[in-house]
Amino acid sequence: MIDLHVHTSRCGHASGQMAEYVEAGRARGLDVICFTDHLPMPAPYPQHYTMEAGEMPAYVADVLAAAAGARASGGPEVLLGIEADWLPDAVPSVRQAVAAYDFDVVLGSVHFLGDWAFDDPDLVARYDAWRPDDLWERYFEEVAHAAASGLFDVIAHPDLVKKFGSRPDRDPRPWYEMTADALAQSGVAVEVNTAGLRKPVGEIYPSLDLLKACRRHGVPATMGSDAHAPAEVGEGLDLARELLLDAGYGSVVCFRNRTAQEVGL
Ligand SMILES: [Zn+2]
Ligand SMILES: [Zn+2]
Repeated sequence: MIDLHVHTSRCGHASGQMAEYVEAGRARGLDVICFTDHLPMPAPYPQHYTMEAGEMPAYVADVLAAAAGARASGGPEVLLGIEADWLPDAVPSVRQAVAAYDFDVVLGSVHFLGDWAFDDPDLVARYDAWRPDDLWERYFEEVAHAAASGLFDVIAHPDLVKKFGSRPDRDPRPWYEMTADALAQSGVAVEVNTAGLRKPVGEIYPSLDLLKACRRHGVPATMGSDAHAPAEVGEGLDLARELLLDAGYGSVVCFRNRTAQEVGL
């Protein structure tokens, strides 16, 4: 079992130290845990969702130390990842930031539409300004652009737009087809992320229909809890595995040095 998406207190809105996450992973029987704290964003994007700009060297050193410690004490394997935002107007800056370290995996996340962090519970009132169909259309366009950017190995929580219960009036499957095609064309993996189980939507990202579309297009899949507290490490991954099997997947991929390796389900 692998958990390729875990945060720590460094990113401001999560709790717990790295050692507690590793310990929780061991207790859950994980083989691999990958830290993916939030990459700092360039101004004028808000600074409070991510690590502080100067924290990257200490973050990387801490993950490498945790990896060495876990190796010496029987696991799990600890990987160095990062969760980077898709910021269409800041591509060179993000490209430079992710190239500065030897990450095992770079998760790409659409959290912003323009200046709106649509997954921030404090900003849910802004959903009222959108027709759901327009919102979903715009969201999946950004996911396709994120995939095509070449910045990322994985598209995280690929239908995050449903987090607070937004549902389109239209059949969403054409968007899913377009998204799966974009992921396949750009060679990125899709993440099955269990955080949605803990949010108002109450379901895994992505939906079964979107995951099936990814499977049809040959898109590899990863899995992660998106834990923001040690107790959430590995949470729901048994359900993620079931969803993957339902969608027709027989394996997932784990990343080391930004190279995918297949792991049987
Ligand atoms: Zn995220
Ligand atoms: Zn995350």
